[in-house]
Amino acid sequence: MDPKDMKERMKLPRQIMSEQAPHERVRNFFEVPLGFTEEQAVIEAKRCIQCKNPLCVGGCPVNVDIPWFIRLIADGKFEEAARKLKETNALPAVCGRVCPQEDQCEKVCIVGKKGAPVSIGRLERFAADYERERGTVSIPEIPKTTGKKAAVVGGGPAGLTVAGDLVKKGHKVTVFEALHTPGGVLVYGIPEFRLPKKIVKAEVEYLKRMGVEIVVNAVVGKLETVDELLANGFDAVFVGTGAGLPVFMNIPGENLCGVYSANEYLTRLNLMRAYQFPEVDTPVLRAKKGRRHRRGQHGNGRGSHGAAPLS
Ligand SMILES: Cc1cc2nc3c(=O)[nH]c(=O)nc-3n(C[C@H](O)[C@H](O)[C@H](O)COP(=O)(O)OP(=O)(O)OC[C@H]3O[C@@H](n4cnc5c(N)ncnc54)[C@H](O)[C@@H]3O)c2cc1C
Ligand code: SF4
Repeated sequence: MDPKDMKERMKLPRQIMSEQAPHERVRNFFEVPLGFTEEQAVIEAKRCIQCKNPLCVGGCPVNVDIPWFIRLIADGKFEEAARKLKETNALPAVCGRVCPQEDQCEKVCIVGKKGAPVSIGRLERFAADYERERGTVSIPEIPKTTGKKAAVVGGGPAGLTVAGDLVKKGHKVTVFEALHTPGGVLVYGIPEFRLPKKIVKAEVEYLKRMGVEIVVNAVVGKLETVDELLANGFDAVFVGTGAGLPVFMNIPGENLCGVYSANEYLTRLNLMRAYQFPEVDTPVLRAKKGRRHRRGQHGNGRGSHGAAPLS
């Protein structure tokens, strides 16, 4: 890149992604950030100076070719950018939203040495959303089958990522997920306003279209053990069961009805939609303090126990 062009790029301001206004977002559970427009994405992409030794790539756990996908956005080739991302990342719309980029790729971005780093995560989100919203998601060519079968235990981001990588190498992959829906913490932990379920669903669909088989309501260990999976035709097993088991503090009262571990509380609300009880089967007990606040004139209707309605 010629030095004059580089200087001009360094002068471009970091683009601000619009989001729901505070007075609106306190009344709903929809996603708060709204994403870049095409114009914003192109300007933001032009802030990348296309380093010869891109430190950002080293900062990315899945080694996305960051300058390449950003250059495609700068050239207006949004769908190509999404395809580039998916060469090494099966979940770009998820990662573009919830990856801690500020501690990874963006932390080491060279542009950040003198100002704000390039918004790599937001650009990733933009490209993945652009492709999905236009229904132009294409499936990469899958190599001839190797004849090998892999079982993946757990359909969280770890299991889904492994499944995507293995299927792209020509192996047959079956994911066994204990819950009724894949996604792990992405669906039962991270709330809708931060990561909408439809985004996770779309990326799971992409994996299925690539040939990943997903079996839900399948608790490995109860149905089949890992040894049995290996004895029954699988050549390898990846265990990605997460860290869902709560650690209790052993304090009096923690076993009382209505005291939840964080994961149970989140699962009831995010996955089982307990905020719609009794229309749905799963309840969540509400704190008295929360109710008092709701009836009062002050406060935002959410008790300090966080158990007031979420919709
Ligand atoms: C509330 C919350 C918010 C978070 N927010 C962020 C964020 O914004 N950004 C970020 O980077 N990280 C975030 N994290 C952390 C992130 O979600 C985890 O690091 C990530 O989900 C771990 O992925 P995993 O696939 O290893 O495990 P999990 O997501 O826990 O998935 C494991 C899966 O295995 C299944 N399973 C367990 N046992 C079995 C079995 N025996 N048989 C079959 N299936 C089984 C479970 O049902 C689950 O679906 C957050 C975590 C929480 C709890
Ligand atoms: S470090 Fe920053 S400027 Fe350099 S290639 Fe990566 S995103 Fe672009």
